[in-house]
Amino acid sequence: MAKKLIVANWKMNPETPREAKEILTPVKKIAQNLKRVTTVLCPPALFLPLAVGAKPSEKVAVGGQDCFGEISGAYTGKISPTQLYYAGARYLILGHSESRAAGDTDAAINHKLRLALKAGLKVILCIGEHQRDEAGQYLQFIKQQLEEDLKNVQRKFANQLIVAYEPVWAIGIAASGPDNPESFHHQSIYIRKIVASFLGKEAAMDLPILYGGSVTSKTAEAFLKAGEADGLLVGRASLDPAEFGKILKIAEAVK
Ligand code: PEP
Repeated sequence: MAKKLIVANWKMNPETPREAKEILTPVKKIAQNLKRVTTVLCPPALFLPLAVGAKPSEKVAVGGQDCFGEISGAYTGKISPTQLYYAGARYLILGHSESRAAGDTDAAINHKLRLALKAGLKVILCIGEHQRDEAGQYLQFIKQQLEEDLKNVQRKFANQLIVAYEPVWAIGIAASGPDNPESFHHQSIYIRKIVASFLGKEAAMDLPILYGGSVTSKTAEAFLKAGEADGLLVGRASLDPAEFGKILKIAEAVK
């Protein structure tokens, strides 16, 4: 059975390196002892060296939260995918709804995604609808995001791809609550079908699909078991080491 992938998206938190260490130390201690879980910590880029420690680890890997669509050059304030890689990141979140809300387009996400794959990063592509309408229009929205974000991705990079299904209405403090595991399961079948149409059936079947949106230790098991999620993308709950530790242990115990 493939390992569960549990990703922590710290967003622009915490404020200080001291607080970052207070999360990292207990979380790493738990994560290092798990056999069936790969933990990916995505702190703000400034805290990457702190999170990586002495050298990158496969079991407790580190990821970026976004990147710029160039490798180097006169782009003040930007961070390239290769710089993330050389800072020890092995994963990269792209297309998060907060980045999309700040102006990230599907074309820009596609461009960054292809650069990041070439740089050797595993990309966690976030997709998800803003609203779920009864007529099922939202399915078309998801399809379009996948088609545009993964356009012209070469099949040889398929094993560096991860999709996080994060319905926007389920993310963050304004969320009405998480999706339900059965619904997630349906969406993941749909996502595999679409991905199969341009990356092939084998790549689609092997694609890890994560659930994200208001995950806590109370809901993690249901998404992993009934929802058959390959992993979770955790926002708020990943900043609380005790709560995130619980989620990691739940993922380890899921059969
Ligand atoms: C997220 O922002 O990716 C996320 C899942 O956040 P939260 O868990 O806080 O809803």
